[in-house]
Amino acid sequence: MSLSGLSALCVECGLCCDGSLFRFLPVQRAEVDRYRALGLPVVTHTGVLAMPLPCAKLEARCCTIYAERPSGCRGFVCHLGDRLERQQVAFPEALAVVREAQRRIGVLRAAWPGPEPVVQRTTTLAHQGDAPGEAAVEALRAVHQWLDANLHWPDGPKTGL
Ligand code: SF4
Ligand code: SF4
Repeated sequence: MSLSGLSALCVECGLCCDGSLFRFLPVQRAEVDRYRALGLPVVTHTGVLAMPLPCAKLEARCCTIYAERPSGCRGFVCHLGDRLERQQVAFPEALAVVREAQRRIGVLRAAWPGPEPVVQRTTTLAHQGDAPGEAAVEALRAVHQWLDANLHWPDGPKTGL
């Protein structure tokens, strides 16, 4: 099966599922059982039902339960993906943005290796007052600003937390 447009971009990306863009995906109360039946954890985060990211169903940037993915996943598209669907950006340009995001996140990962998603790890370091924390603040701020400008919605997250 060949993919095109947003689907083709998403299988090269996965940043909204791997914890790079969001730490949590909001979950509707009526869907909690469905998430859990799919093996997706649901927790309470700042008073809101949510699924922690990265998602265990993501493998090599692809969703392994794509056909069954819950509505919170189906309803999400990042600003870059929306612009692609509206033909405001061409596919090669959108793919280049995804590649650059991955490169920038890879730089963080190399600087602060560890088991958890690098944006979350860097955030933890950023709250420390020591030298690694200060360096992490600068690096994380730069990556967040770039992601805000290129993938996030201008008015803030639409479905992630
Ligand atoms: S961040 Fe955007 S392009 Fe990447 S997988 Fe999510 S919706 Fe697709
Ligand atoms: S279920 Fe699939 S689409 Fe939803 S967060 Fe997990 S990997 Fe992404």
